[in-house]
Amino acid sequence: MQYIEEGMKLIRYRSFNEELKKQFGARVDRITINAFISCPNIDGTKARGGCTFCQDASFEGLTLRTSETFLRGSGIADQIQQGITYLGNRYPSLKYLAYFQNGTNTYAPIDVLQKNFHEALKFPEVVGLIISTRPDCLSSEIIDLLTELNQTTYLWVELGIPSHLDESNRRVNRAHTVDDFVQSTYKLAERSIRVCAHVILGLIGEDSQVVIEKARFMSAQNIQAIKIHNLVVFKDTALEKIYREERYPLLSLSEYANQCVDFLENLRSDIFIQRLNAHGPKRLTVAPAWSVNKWNTINAIHSVLEERDTWQGKFLDKPVLTIFQNFSDQVFFQNGGCC
Ligand code: SF4
Repeated sequence: MQYIEEGMKLIRYRSFNEELKKQFGARVDRITINAFISCPNIDGTKARGGCTFCQDASFEGLTLRTSETFLRGSGIADQIQQGITYLGNRYPSLKYLAYFQNGTNTYAPIDVLQKNFHEALKFPEVVGLIISTRPDCLSSEIIDLLTELNQTTYLWVELGIPSHLDESNRRVNRAHTVDDFVQSTYKLAERSIRVCAHVILGLIGEDSQVVIEKARFMSAQNIQAIKIHNLVVFKDTALEKIYREERYPLLSLSEYANQCVDFLENLRSDIFIQRLNAHGPKRLTVAPAWSVNKWNTINAIHSVLEERDTWQGKFLDKPVLTIFQNFSDQVFFQNGGCC
């Protein structure tokens, strides 16, 4: 490394938290929203049953702390208000991003989407939106709506793309192509809309070399942020059945931490890291057991970064990370959108 300030550590990857602090001059947290929008991969439009790993109930944001009955009877505004009350009591100075997390949040009539997003933005504390969706659910009408939103608020579109390999995506019943992802990032880039890609490590048939290729593929795309997600087997999913019948080989914590660092080393250094792991509630997690402990996973990744004295983009470009801060100051979003 070039330099380490006394008492501080070099940040070895580009934290999204730093971006938010720069943008808003304050801590910014998210309020997760369940707009009860379905998915073309579940309702039969593209496929049935959804992605093999998908378990809607695994999202551990505020939506899970509230009873489904309440949520179904509540609108976006109720959920935002509840989030502000809950988080505001803990962190009084918070500003918020409304995170449309569950389901495919561009898969509804345009007037419904318009109403949802504008309802969230009515709150002065809400300074932006994160909209999680599939790459094949971005019609020109939707892109126009996103463009309009992007002109008036701080917008991120989160696109699920478990793998850069169609074959891997087929295995998890993804029901869209890698090209769908590439095309949608072009369309969003044309409108200057920020994109966060959401990838999964530990898919069957994907070893360390494939992980490196995945990072290099992502580095060549029109994306500004990424979520890196370890594969988790949740209860009542197709993946649970496959896992139990075929003993699906899952990564150990050490293997995941090392693959995650392999990925970071081969990722463009300007891409913000929004997340380094996936975890869900213990009661819904089949395997791996280590995944339920978010901070244990993050600490294992930090340890590998230190042990290997390495950093994001090391093998792609010269290091550009110049911000110094304790790892413990980092704030990570807890979960990614289901896509
Ligand atoms: S992960 Fe996303 S794309 Fe896959 S089934 Fe669930 S909602 Fe649909």
